[in-house]
Amino acid sequence: MQFNVATLLQEPVGATRLFEADGELSAPDVGYVARASGRIHMLRTERGILVRARMDVRPALECARCLEAFELPLTLQVDEEFVPHHDPVTGEAVEADPDEFRIDDLNHLDLSEAVRQYEQAALPIQPVCREDCAGLCPVCGQNLNERLHEHEDQQAEAAWSSLAALAERLRTEEHRGGT
Ligand SMILES: [Zn+2]
Ligand SMILES: [Zn+2]
Repeated sequence: MQFNVATLLQEPVGATRLFEADGELSAPDVGYVARASGRIHMLRTERGILVRARMDVRPALECARCLEAFELPLTLQVDEEFVPHHDPVTGEAVEADPDEFRIDDLNHLDLSEAVRQYEQAALPIQPVCREDCAGLCPVCGQNLNERLHEHEDQQAEAAWSSLAALAERLRTEEHRGGT
């Protein structure tokens, strides 16, 4: 998702642009391709362009419980300054920290890597396809969201019988304690 900011870079500090965008994010260095849409506000700063964007993304994840692929809708608030390699007016080199985002020499401002980083930071550690995902059957590994099957009765029975055994043991210990 690239924007040509040649004219904005020529304008004085404080000049702004607003974009509504829907397009592809691509960060080939890390094999990242995704779709994003949102409102992108740009402000000409002393050093470059401050981007404030509200971006909707839908990263493809794997559910930590049932292992099915699903898309998680996320809205990211991106707030980053992009700095050109050369001052558009004087042509002098502009210094920047290695982790700062750059505008390339063709005046392209690419949001892909910034959105990727914000998305990474927003991902849950244990993503679940839905709050009440039933996960996989511990006996046979079948996805329990799809259909009920016989192991569920067995599990229920097993749970009941172990509770019953526990209750029995407690009763017995009570008796011993009483004598
Ligand atoms: Zn799931
Ligand atoms: Zn099963």
